[in-house]
Amino acid sequence: MDILLKNVHLIAEPDNNTIIQTNIVIEDKIISEISPTAQISAPEYVIEGKAHVVLPPPINSHTHLPMTLLRGYSDNKELMSWLQEDIWPQEGKFDRKWMTLGTKLACLEMIKSGTGGAADFYFHESVIGEVIKKVGMRGWLGAGILPSAFVDQGGLEFQMQEFHKTLKLSNESSLLNTAIAPHSQITVPEDILIQTADLAEQYKVPIMIHASETRSEVMNSEDKYQVPPVERLEQIGFFKENAKQIIAHCTWITQREVEILGKYNATIGWCPVSSQKLAYGGVTPIPELRSIGANVALGTDGTASNNTLDLWREMREAVNVISASRWDPALYSAENVLEDTCWTFRRNFHPESLLKVGNCADLVILNFNSPHLQPIHNTISNIVYAANGSDVHSLIVNGTPLMIDREVLTMDEDKTLDEIKSKVPELIQS
Ligand SMILES: [Zn+2]
Repeated sequence: MDILLKNVHLIAEPDNNTIIQTNIVIEDKIISEISPTAQISAPEYVIEGKAHVVLPPPINSHTHLPMTLLRGYSDNKELMSWLQEDIWPQEGKFDRKWMTLGTKLACLEMIKSGTGGAADFYFHESVIGEVIKKVGMRGWLGAGILPSAFVDQGGLEFQMQEFHKTLKLSNESSLLNTAIAPHSQITVPEDILIQTADLAEQYKVPIMIHASETRSEVMNSEDKYQVPPVERLEQIGFFKENAKQIIAHCTWITQREVEILGKYNATIGWCPVSSQKLAYGGVTPIPELRSIGANVALGTDGTASNNTLDLWREMREAVNVISASRWDPALYSAENVLEDTCWTFRRNFHPESLLKVGNCADLVILNFNSPHLQPIHNTISNIVYAANGSDVHSLIVNGTPLMIDREVLTMDEDKTLDEIKSKVPELIQS
């Protein structure tokens, strides 16, 4: 499929705020030319883009996609009572049917808000992968490992089977990648943590884990093991040279732990909205992590604690929470957060889809012809501080248009919404 983007404003690299007005040609899924005179005969799609800004689509670095089913189900509660009283009883009912429906809603929301892929972390991850593949997004499928969960479906054995199923899926599709995802160092026994790190090394797949999400988790770790979570993970040999790790949250880490994460070139799946909503109190030390060489990548967490998958809104919250908590509005800039949302994950996990000639065509197009996006003194400022997911005009992933001019092409939007409206009440009442 050939696509021509005419006269768009391309954000080439966010750090130096370079924006060029150009045409972009996509041929056979590849970006074949970026220049003001680029043309192609008889393209299937032409996007006229005087008011349009083009950049690599965000990748959500940490989420639990089927949790869309519980958006708004329970708010304003402290983490453990929120989980124990409201979330876990509902989540315990999620079988393959509900996982599929929740992921469909998540994918629809992500396409409509211009997200190109997600690093997911859940159970039944092969079911989630099937939906992601079908709609044409990119997925990093973190097969959840928590021996105490889903016991009636087989517990750890079922979870390991799911990991192997996602491996098979990712071998069959260039859009999918597997990861293994032990829940956290406090909830997963040490031998299983080590086993998962060995499996990640054996199969050369990333490993995902939650760490230092709350103060009580840190205190538990210090009581039990005399060290905080990230330090303990290093002590037991969880981090390996040359491995790819996505460490979610890191809300309450020490400078020593910042150095460990930098040493192993870890990626931090930072979810500022969820952390604030659940009143974790701390703020992940993003400037320190960035300056030591860790990779900061923005995520939303699940929609029960966010409550959206809109990474444009997340960006604004991210810069503002650093400015507010650190009393310094220059410590983490709009350019920094845009880089962490649209470039960093891709650079580390899929550089062949960065927006360059010869690469797979992944692009998101924002429509700036809106009152809240005018005037344009600084394009990146408008994206970070004023845009939201509804400003996305079109989304192209791996050369395939998933949405053009807000019409979703790889899913039936109305049917999916009707299914959600009619079926979700059954889940809650069952
Ligand atoms: Zn999480």
